[in-house]
Amino acid sequence: MKQVLQSSKLAGIRYELRGRVPRAAKELEALGHRILNMNLGDPAPFAFPVPEPIVHDIIHNLGRAQGYSDSKGLFSARTAIAQHYQSSGLLDVQVEDVFIGNGVSELIPMALQALLEDGDEVLVPTPDFPVWTAAVGLADGIARHYLCDPDDNWLPSLEDIERKITPRTRAIVIINPNNPTGAVYPEETLKGIADLARKHDLVIFADEIYEKVLFEGRHFHVAAVAPDLCCITFSGLSKAYRMPGYRAGWLVITGPRSASSSYREGLELLASLRLCANVPAQHAIQTALGGYQSIDDLVGPKGRLRLQRDLAHQLLNGIPGLECVRASGALYLFVRIDPQMYSFASDEDFAYELLQDQKLLVTHGSAFNWFGTHYFRFAILPSLTEIEDAAHRLRSFLESRANT
Ligand code: PLP
Repeated sequence: MKQVLQSSKLAGIRYELRGRVPRAAKELEALGHRILNMNLGDPAPFAFPVPEPIVHDIIHNLGRAQGYSDSKGLFSARTAIAQHYQSSGLLDVQVEDVFIGNGVSELIPMALQALLEDGDEVLVPTPDFPVWTAAVGLADGIARHYLCDPDDNWLPSLEDIERKITPRTRAIVIINPNNPTGAVYPEETLKGIADLARKHDLVIFADEIYEKVLFEGRHFHVAAVAPDLCCITFSGLSKAYRMPGYRAGWLVITGPRSASSSYREGLELLASLRLCANVPAQHAIQTALGGYQSIDDLVGPKGRLRLQRDLAHQLLNGIPGLECVRASGALYLFVRIDPQMYSFASDEDFAYELLQDQKLLVTHGSAFNWFGTHYFRFAILPSLTEIEDAAHRLRSFLESRANT
């Protein structure tokens, strides 16, 4: 039989968050090593259980969840999502504007496929959550990366955005709060991006999955500062509601409906081609959005996540040659390695060697399409003890690799 070759369309499509380094970690685990995982944005393995009423509701509704649902999602869930946005300033969101998917990660490729012609360009942040860059490529578009500036608390550089706009640019992606940098964007920054989108007729894709995971500042929906533009806002239950395994996410289209009717039809077609999102998790959406909303026990003054963020920030900055900004939101620190003090062939090699040497798993910066100096992402979900342990292992590793 001839070789079965993968499509050439996959050349250049990367998702290293599940690539060579985490695969090596699995191999080490299979050999009996205990790996300290500081690479995951998944609350479940770190004793952040799904709130009890949500689990109860899923179990309770299982019997009623055996058939397909409407392709856009259950009416009750979409109503709850519409109401969630109405109560946070997007007064005009209606049920018809909401599409439910198997997590935001399923909806990102759909939203791009419904928009892009071959060769159309999309402005994507660097660093980014890499599903965005990959999904632009899968839709035969071109991702143009705009800088989020480490010297400006990782805020998007409006100058760089404007420089990268060409006649082929169709859309801009904003991740706020940001994975991997932890930045939360002030209203002014969003207004600046909206002005550029308005001037150049761009669609705005706003990935707001961490909208409630906030330590400092306030979260603003870009759709609220740009009600006159076509904004596609994404969120879901994977982070603040701690249920990534159940897969429940959504997108909401705002802006003048008359301008987006063709795009909406395209999205409906793509949604119907995959029939529907999984129905048991859709039943949890109304309970989650209608139930107890505060996550102060996690992000408040004595919240577990806040304490972990503070400790990680303090310990990592205390290691010679490492430097990171304190995250204002989301679940990560994005840490710089001083190239004068340590030289690694690549940041992926750094992560690989750290894993082999110390059994500590972090994610290298270039996995987030960050191509500057060496960086890595350090997740703050593990416990205080694990964070101390990880910092200790990092320090030992770097001491053994310091340039002399
Ligand atoms: N968007 C961002 C910025 C993320 O960090 C993640 C997951 O880590 C996702 C989307 C994926 O979310 P979901 O679980 O809803 O697919």
